[in-house]
Amino acid sequence: MARTLAPETWGRSTVRTACPLDCPDSCTLDVTVEKGRVVKIDGGPTNPVTRNYICAKVRRFGERVYGEDRLLYPAVRRGPKGQGVFTRVTWDEALDHIARRMMAIRDTTGAEAILPFCYGGSNGLLTQDTNDARLFRAFGTSRLARTVCAAPTGAANQALYGKMPGVTYADYVHARLIVMWGVNPSASGIHLIPYVRQAQKAGATLVVIDPRATALARQADLHLAPRPGTDLPIALALHRFLFEGGFTDERFLSSHTRGAAELRARADEWTIERAAETAGIEASALTRFAELYSAASPALVRCGWGLERNRNGGSAAAAVLALPAIGGKFGVRGGGFSMSNSAAFGIKAAAWMNDTPEPATRLVNMNHLGRALLEFKDPPVEMLFVYNCNPLATMPDQNRVLEGLKREDLFTVVYEQVFTDTARYADVLLPATTFLENYDIAKGYGPISLQLVRPVIEPFGEARPNAEVFSELVSRLDLGEAELETDTLFRVASRMPPHVSGELMETGSVTPPYEGAPVQFVDVFPLTPDGKVDLFPAALHAGAPAGLYGFQPDPGTDRFPLALISPASEKTITSTLGELRQRAAVLQMNPADAQARGLASDDPVRVFNDLGEVQCPVALNKDIRPGTVSLPKGLWRKSTYNGSISNALVPDTLTDLGGGACFNDARVQVALLGRH
Ligand code: SF4
Repeated sequence: MARTLAPETWGRSTVRTACPLDCPDSCTLDVTVEKGRVVKIDGGPTNPVTRNYICAKVRRFGERVYGEDRLLYPAVRRGPKGQGVFTRVTWDEALDHIARRMMAIRDTTGAEAILPFCYGGSNGLLTQDTNDARLFRAFGTSRLARTVCAAPTGAANQALYGKMPGVTYADYVHARLIVMWGVNPSASGIHLIPYVRQAQKAGATLVVIDPRATALARQADLHLAPRPGTDLPIALALHRFLFEGGFTDERFLSSHTRGAAELRARADEWTIERAAETAGIEASALTRFAELYSAASPALVRCGWGLERNRNGGSAAAAVLALPAIGGKFGVRGGGFSMSNSAAFGIKAAAWMNDTPEPATRLVNMNHLGRALLEFKDPPVEMLFVYNCNPLATMPDQNRVLEGLKREDLFTVVYEQVFTDTARYADVLLPATTFLENYDIAKGYGPISLQLVRPVIEPFGEARPNAEVFSELVSRLDLGEAELETDTLFRVASRMPPHVSGELMETGSVTPPYEGAPVQFVDVFPLTPDGKVDLFPAALHAGAPAGLYGFQPDPGTDRFPLALISPASEKTITSTLGELRQRAAVLQMNPADAQARGLASDDPVRVFNDLGEVQCPVALNKDIRPGTVSLPKGLWRKSTYNGSISNALVPDTLTDLGGGACFNDARVQVALLGRH
């Protein structure tokens, strides 16, 4: 965009935009800009859910924009891989270099030797699945199964309900019982907390299921702290309790569901006692939970993403999502389930990508990046194109990913905002704009919202937006015309329903359907082929190693008995903003486990298994259950003593459904650093 006056001459103004980062809330933002620089980021008052406050993470986002790690211009590697020595080049030189390499690979090994690699670094509808998809589809590269997060829960929700919209934040206040299962809104999705508090004040009972006594768990009426990976038996024990106790709504089951008998058969072996023993919780607490749930109405289950991150994650999500159908909890405001509402607008990238169909090329599960780089043949991966993603920090089996990135014969492009751990291993670095410098469309997945993201400052340095850079490559490879970011924006908007695009472009936000608060089985119904809840989808059953709702036992051993979890923290959005962390991350450990190992708070420790070792300080914390230790999600390598993070200890095995990552299946031992 041509602007006539230099930013230094601009005055002070506040610009309304929205946050597209990977967080359910999708805040409306008021960004104050002075002389062309961001000086303050705050909540915009017009959004009825996010109102005028935002998380502390994004308040600091200016430190990313102007920080010392910001990538300011394109560069090519000069030193050995990983040494971090780069030479500045022009955009034309960088893009020509990439295009030439892509053509050379296509003409020798074949385009499937190119692996595009991206996830939700900035989750808007323009920064992903627009010109990037056009480029890689038309060129015939390998495809990426983007399943690192939300794949098991998404698969379960899709199969059971066809992604029927869930209860939104505003309706929590109507619930008499709220079950927060595998979710910690203090770290992610903070705007849910006031609604839960309001419901509690109005008399609602709160149940929290989390291996840690989080802030919310400490204020709950009942807190269950199960061993990671055992949410499935707990949910199945609830089903059994509902069936056996006659707490089901038979009329609802016969008219709105199918598969209840099969679910009942799978739940039959899970008595309260057996499930409680497997999960490591008190049977009396589980009984109380079952009694509370069977009796309450409206009863609401919030199915989070914590319970999917293990070998049983898909079945666990399916069993949790099935509870309101079995328990007869639908049809009232504040009753039912709450999960991702990303599908509520019915808008998918397919609407604007169908003129470039997806080829039937090799599909690579992103959780297998390490093995893809090191082991795949026919063809091997010769080029990795990373954008919206920092895989060295976020993918399982970190050491294998690192070995792969070190390959001298691998040509790696990293298109990023800051100099991430992955960027260090690039052959070509391209500087990307942040959401404060580009257009985007933010789709909330907690509250139902769709908002325009506006650039509030000029791109810093030579950073350029995704839509333009991929479009430039499309043009250089003779796959189509180059277009400006605004062209892409209007093209995407034009493929949305006219009332949606019109309102979005005119006002910056769209009035949500169902007034933003649908009542399940009143306003919205399952979007499955027959409109029924499928409680035992055949495809899921066939695809799960132990069948749907089949429990796979704990992978712990005598050598590695501790379950390592890596939950979201208050400091990063996955690994975004990880560069701002100054202190070493701390392993949280129950005092009983520490005592058994002769450890005291602040001791330097080794956390290890056969895949790797993390060295960091330990903190004794009674808020984490015995037998489980915790390191934050999204750490960068500098945040531990030895440059390894929790993912160095995570196997690249997949969840039972959806091909998701089993982060919480890491089993480890902990010892004082120096003691072997
Ligand atoms: S990360 Fe979430 S809470 Fe923070 S500003 Fe963005 S949408 Fe709001």
